[in-house]
Amino acid sequence: MKRIAIILLTLTSILFVQHVPEGLAKASNELSLEEKYEQRLTLYEKMEAITNVPWYYLAAVDTYERGLRRAQKDRPAEEGLIAIYFSPQQWVGPLNPDLEDTNPLSISMFNGVGLDGNGDGVADRNNDEDVLYTFARYLESYGFKEEDFRIALWEYYQREQSVNIIYGHANVYKTFKTLDLDDHTFPLPLHHNYSYRSTWGDRRGWGGRRIHEGTDIFANYNVPVMATAYGIVEIKGWNKYGGWRIGVRDLDNVYHYYAHLSGFEKGVEKGTVVAPGDVIGYVGSSGYGKPGTQGKFPPHLHYGMYRDNGYTEWSFDPYPSLKSWERKAYQERKKKK
Ligand SMILES: [Zn+2]
Repeated sequence: MKRIAIILLTLTSILFVQHVPEGLAKASNELSLEEKYEQRLTLYEKMEAITNVPWYYLAAVDTYERGLRRAQKDRPAEEGLIAIYFSPQQWVGPLNPDLEDTNPLSISMFNGVGLDGNGDGVADRNNDEDVLYTFARYLESYGFKEEDFRIALWEYYQREQSVNIIYGHANVYKTFKTLDLDDHTFPLPLHHNYSYRSTWGDRRGWGGRRIHEGTDIFANYNVPVMATAYGIVEIKGWNKYGGWRIGVRDLDNVYHYYAHLSGFEKGVEKGTVVAPGDVIGYVGSSGYGKPGTQGKFPPHLHYGMYRDNGYTEWSFDPYPSLKSWERKAYQERKKKK
């Protein structure tokens, strides 16, 4: 009897040790950013090994949902490393009377989505591995081709823009092969003459009663305009207000809008993945009319920022971000000297 108890105890401890993910001993809020990225990537790769869903698809969805948690007030901040959010009803099943249910069997009986991803017999909505595994299995059920991924996302979010943003995130991660993509930079090279002030919310002169949704950075014609963040080109072309304009979507689900350009950088197209500092176009005075209209105002870069919240997008003042990126760029230039 004693021997059996010892064997059982040993077995339990072996199982227990195996199921404590490496390095997760620290609470996730005590980790440095680098440690978070490292452990998150380990989780993605582990789920890729189990489900064959590429890690950058999982990273893309997780990153999109992290942005939604920031943008939507009714979503709590994530406690762990993974930000994918399942509501209690979604997790346990719509008719399940127990909203805290963690039993995989009863959850599945009530058509809940929650699965046990780490093999501890419990499907826990607050466990990183269970949550990531549940989403990976969902994606896996559609197949592994890009088109399958897009269909799975469409079925899940029922919104084309969500699909596009996540698909863009996946391409960014696939290109750079790391999660450490937080760097930002000022859109114009510091050695050129330029000036800007906070003009967000000012009334505009053209196109009726629109408020000014951005910051105007005045500079000479053909000063290079650089991507400020890691991201993907979402839109490129003419728009009657913005003239030749380009839009880059970053990993915070923020859309960076660069308007009134004189032209675009060669090779930059819709779908091009960019890094901060990559030249995407040149300062001009295009806009306020038919394609090609220019010179109706002094040359400047109109820079706007728009956040996607899963339903819609709204503009916020880019001035504080520009100021901090400019400060950082000056500090980096000093260090190099
Ligand atoms: Zn402007």
